[in-house]
This record gives sequence, C-alpha cells and structure tokens, in this order.
Amino acid sequence: MRDLFAEQLEALRARSLDRHLREISSAQGPEIEVAGRRLINFSSNDYLGLVNDSRLREAAIAAIGEFGVGAGASRLISGTQSPHVRLESALAKWKGTEAALCFSSGYTTALGTIPALVTKNDVVLLDKLCHASLIDGAKLSGAILRIFPHNHLGKLESHLEWAQREHAGKRILIVTESIFSMDGDRAPLRELVELKKRFGALLMLDEAHAVGVIGRNGRGRAAEENLNHDVDVQMGTLSKALGASGGYICGSRILIEWLVNRGRSFIYSTAQSPAIAAAALAAVDFLSSAEGEERRLLLWKQINLMRELLPVNAMNKKRGDASSAIFPWIAGDEQAALELSRALQKERFLVPAIRYPTVARGAARLRITVTASHEENQIRSLCQAIKRLGA
Ligand SMILES: *Cc1c(COP(=O)(O)O)cnc(C)c1O
Repeated sequence: MRDLFAEQLEALRARSLDRHLREISSAQGPEIEVAGRRLINFSSNDYLGLVNDSRLREAAIAAIGEFGVGAGASRLISGTQSPHVRLESALAKWKGTEAALCFSSGYTTALGTIPALVTKNDVVLLDKLCHASLIDGAKLSGAILRIFPHNHLGKLESHLEWAQREHAGKRILIVTESIFSMDGDRAPLRELVELKKRFGALLMLDEAHAVGVIGRNGRGRAAEENLNHDVDVQMGTLSKALGASGGYICGSRILIEWLVNRGRSFIYSTAQSPAIAAAALAAVDFLSSAEGEERRLLLWKQINLMRELLPVNAMNKKRGDASSAIFPWIAGDEQAALELSRALQKERFLVPAIRYPTVARGAARLRITVTASHEENQIRSLCQAIKRLGA
C-alpha cells in the first residue's frame, strides 16, 4: 500500500502538482517569518488585519479566563455558552437577518447545511467556480447535481427549466459565491435573485470573501444590495476578514431552527471554542463601528493601488475591474506558476501558486491578496517584482 501512495505522490511531483506544508514561526500579518526569514505576506485572507488585533486577543483571553479553552460538548448537549449566543445575535443584527447559527468552520458550515436543505431527487445547481466545501456539501446531500458555467445566467436558466420539467415538485437549490475565492470576481446577484424567484428555487450565497470587504460596515453583498429577504441562505466564514475561525449561516428563524435539528456537522461536532466565539464577536463589533468602517476603507485604498499597479499580460487582461481584495495573476502552466512563486519568495514575497485541482488545469496562477495592513511601498515593490520576473 505504501508503494501505491509513493507512486501516486511521484506522479503528482512529475506534474508540478505536489503540495507541501510550510512552517510559519510568527503571528499572521503583512510580514511573517518563514525558515528564519521575514517575508512580505500576500497570501492571507486576513483582509482587515484582525487576526492579531488587540481587541480580538483581549476578547479571547478574557473568555478563556471565564470559560476555559474547550467547549466540552456539542452545541445541543452542553456546548452552547454565552459567547456563542452573543456572537449569533450580533451576527444576525449586523447582517440584518432574523437569526444566525455558527459552525466550527466555513467548510463544515457548507457540509452540514446543504444536505439539510436538499436530499435525494432534489436538484442542486452550482456555479463551476464554487469552493470545494460547497461541492462537497452538494455531493453529500445525495441530490442531483448540475454545474453551470461560471456566472452563466443563460445556462443556469436552462438548467432551471430542465429541473422544473424533469423533477416537478422537487426542491431546487442554487448555490454560488458573492465573491469567488480564486478569481476575485462577483456573481450577478440581482439577476440570480430574479431567476430563483421565477422558478421558485432556493438561493444559497457564500459570502466568505465579501464579508468585511464589501458594503457598509462590511456586511457583504446580500445586506448591501437589500436582498436579505431574497437570499434564502447566507453563508460566511469567521476565519477570513473577521480574523477568528468558524463559519455561519444567516437567514430566517425557521431556517436556523431547521439547521439546529438537521445540520449534521453542527449536531455531531463539539462547539467552537468559546474564546474563538468571543474573538469573532469582537470582530463583528469592530466592523460595526466607525473605526471598523475606516479600516475597511483603508483596505479599498490598497485594493485600488494594486489594481492600478499590477502589470497586465496576455492572460490577465480582464483583471482591470478588480472588485475584491483577491487578484489572480494567471500564469497558465503549473510549472511556470510555481517558478514565479519561488522567484518572488527569493525576493521576500510570499505569494502562493494555486494549481489544479483548486483551479482548472492550465489555469495555474498566483493568488495575490491585499490587506488593510499592507503598506503602499510593499504593494509597489511586489508589482515591480512581478513585472520583472513574470514577463
Ligand atoms: C475559505 C472558504 C470556505 C471555508 O471556510 P473556512 O472557515 O476556512 O473553513 C468556504 N467557502 C469559501 C468560498 C471559502 O473561500
């Protein structure tokens, strides 16, 4: 058996598709320490620089003092503690929905939620570029899964017609992201809402890369575009702009009650640490404040600078309309993406190469993320290095 996996690993290596862990010996931030070297970090989803913020640290430390470290049981047994309750009510208030429910990660949020919404003989229609957690959740549900080309409303419409015709009376769930994790572009939310209404489908929107970034006080796109009543299931994570960890669903009281009863990753897993819930609550409070809004606007200043400076090549023509903190720089070939990433690391920039199966074969890229805590000169020097090395 060992030989079997060794051979498969060798095959991955031969195609430049092998992956390795890298030890970071410092806190996360715009500069991190890797193997004794300080690197400028353009790889993190900590868009607002909150992971090491004193407000979050102090909230977590205070909660450890009061509640200890672990939650001790699943939420339905004895794991629901005051920080979880406070966090959920703050999330619902911030997003403007009736209720919210937290899970131990964004991944398990999708894995527990989709199978609670649909089952065998129902239909899930999923955007081609959806995150692995959404794909896995859809597969686990046992529903019939159809993928539509990225943001392709015409194809989605014909899938909806097909589902309505061939699976009359069954539930139809459309799943997409408001900001796509590897491309940084946006879903056409208004048009999706129009379609889902016309066909009586449910809409689930993953706002992982929109919360904290898009909309007043970083409430994400559903809230910003006044679509809270039309997006049935709003998913998000506490691990990216919010600087903590865990995932959540926001929606109606009935939806949340249903997930408490049927979300298996919620029911059968120990609650998220109360200290982490307290830190996430501090992040939501910060985002809701004037100071938080100022931090978000600072992030947009950096996003606009990156948009202006990142060099354009034949494969990156479309990048001009940056609509998030994520900048894909397409290299195409897996080996080329790896080499560019390595060359940048020699110049003290950490920018990971993203390859198959995270993105399609031949669409390997650098995934550059900017944060509010980067300095202007760091962004400038990264763009100069890419111009020099990526040509
Ligand atoms: C990161 C991510 C998740 C998973 O969230 P975690 O909290 O990291 O488990 C889900 N969906 C999308 C789009 C993501 O980018």
